[in-house]
Amino acid sequence: MAEQPGGQCLTCGTHTKNRCAACGKAGIDLFFCSASCQKTLWVGHRLFCGRHAFPPLFPLLQPDESRLVRSKMYAPILGGDDGPISIYDEYLVHWYTCPEAEYAVSALVEGSAYDREQPDARGTSHNQRVLIILRMALCFQTTKSERNDILSALSEKWYRLLCDGVFPMDVRDTTREQAILFHHIVAVVTLMRVKGQSDVRDRESAMRGFQCQFRMIDYAKQHISAEASEKVSANVSPAMHGFSGILRQIVNR
Ligand SMILES: [Zn+2]
Ligand SMILES: [Zn+2]
Repeated sequence: MAEQPGGQCLTCGTHTKNRCAACGKAGIDLFFCSASCQKTLWVGHRLFCGRHAFPPLFPLLQPDESRLVRSKMYAPILGGDDGPISIYDEYLVHWYTCPEAEYAVSALVEGSAYDREQPDARGTSHNQRVLIILRMALCFQTTKSERNDILSALSEKWYRLLCDGVFPMDVRDTTREQAILFHHIVAVVTLMRVKGQSDVRDRESAMRGFQCQFRMIDYAKQHISAEASEKVSANVSPAMHGFSGILRQIVNR
């Protein structure tokens, strides 16, 4: 962390001058007041730290994730309006010009040979949209890892906010304000997924989750638009229902 003009800690909201140095190099100021606050969010933030921070690029698949997606490619898993559909169906809806879905999934593995052969054949924007859809599909699988869990939840939020016009269709068009909003969402989802589950009896972490959510909405209102903040609230707040439950349990004890 390096000394810079200050901002609010992403985890606890305290005003601080400590920002994440790796994200700073990527052109975005994200603040953490202490090593402890940075550590609390690290499981989520690490996925979008440094080169993935601005614009916030979804990381490529790990080999086991790619294998899982390809094994489920034609199985009906996603619940659509017209009944369950497969990853492949979803793929065709969004990328009707590409019948080689399995090949494309192989190409989205970090460090894969396919990647080197065709470094950017379909472009960052296309790859990001494929990754977001695949992540949403993986969300319905039972072999969840913490990484998958967080990325799936974030993909779902990104997709909904894209449909609501809060985020741009092409991730490369993300403004600094939109990117910081996204990092707020990472913070909320991480606290909900990780702290919300492990510290069910911890009133302090439940309160921190609430405060984090309010700051996210406040940020959207101040830096994007009141309309956007309503959409953020409607799309991301349901993630906090776990916290309301926890708080009720504590209060009623
Ligand atoms: Zn803090
Ligand atoms: Zn960072």
